[in-house]
Amino acid sequence: MVSKQYQDNIATIVQKIQEAEAIVVGGASGMSTANGHDFYGHSKYWIDNFSEFERNYGIRGNFQALYYKYRTSEERWAYLAKHGTLMFDTPPGQTYLDLYKLIKDKNYFIISTNQDMQFSKLFPEEKICLPQGDAHWFQCGIPCHDQVYPAEEMLRNMAANIKDTRIPTELIPRCPKCSGEMEPWIRSFVFLEGEFWEEGMERYGKFLIENSDKKVLFIELGVGSMTPNIIKYPFSQMTYSRPDAFLVRINKGEAPTPEMLKNKAITMNADIAQVLSDLASHMQGMNSLDDGELSQGREVS
Ligand SMILES: [Zn+2]
Repeated sequence: MVSKQYQDNIATIVQKIQEAEAIVVGGASGMSTANGHDFYGHSKYWIDNFSEFERNYGIRGNFQALYYKYRTSEERWAYLAKHGTLMFDTPPGQTYLDLYKLIKDKNYFIISTNQDMQFSKLFPEEKICLPQGDAHWFQCGIPCHDQVYPAEEMLRNMAANIKDTRIPTELIPRCPKCSGEMEPWIRSFVFLEGEFWEEGMERYGKFLIENSDKKVLFIELGVGSMTPNIIKYPFSQMTYSRPDAFLVRINKGEAPTPEMLKNKAITMNADIAQVLSDLASHMQGMNSLDDGELSQGREVS
């Protein structure tokens, strides 16, 4: 049984979406875990796909697998290729589909710390900024030069040639300039914040500036406390400083709205999947109501 407060919040958020002249979405890992896509822990995803890696190395999840000291590059790339290929093949989860329904016709922009490609499967690249990188790309592992390279073909080729958690040596991705090993373009000690990264940040900055005097709605989805300086703090600050801004925060375990944002924010400590699904249904209900009124109007005239 949902509370009246919950229902009121759903109605208010849908209204805020409809009224907004610009929407800025900040999405993090909670968006994916809500769909059962737990890419980090000892989850179903891990157990179904990586039992060989668990047997050979004792690792129990992607987070460990990513930082594990493999004896050879052939073994490390076997893991990276398998995980990377699965990221390409995993369809977008329901939370992403529901969010798409809610904002697709609006003037919006998305910033996400996720590296699992889920946003990119539905939303156009020019409307997304990925400050932590994204597994679509490789970079030089040093890096010796400023360029990212499409990873899909190399990942699929490696994954198709894994034998007992190893790939053939000749398939290890090599930098075309220095012949060193490449790296997935995701946040690490060698993460390349070059031209490609800056382009994304500039797109985001431009959207914020262009819409600075408009009615902006910030929607924060599944953002924990891991990297608050990317989404959480800036969203709070911008909501506070812009007279026409409003903030919606949805995440299980989310702390209540801070005092300084009391009349400018709704915080829902709830399951993101449930909330987005309820928002999408509520909006659909309102739209069909509008259509009904319209067609009635036409009949009268
Ligand atoms: Zn290089």
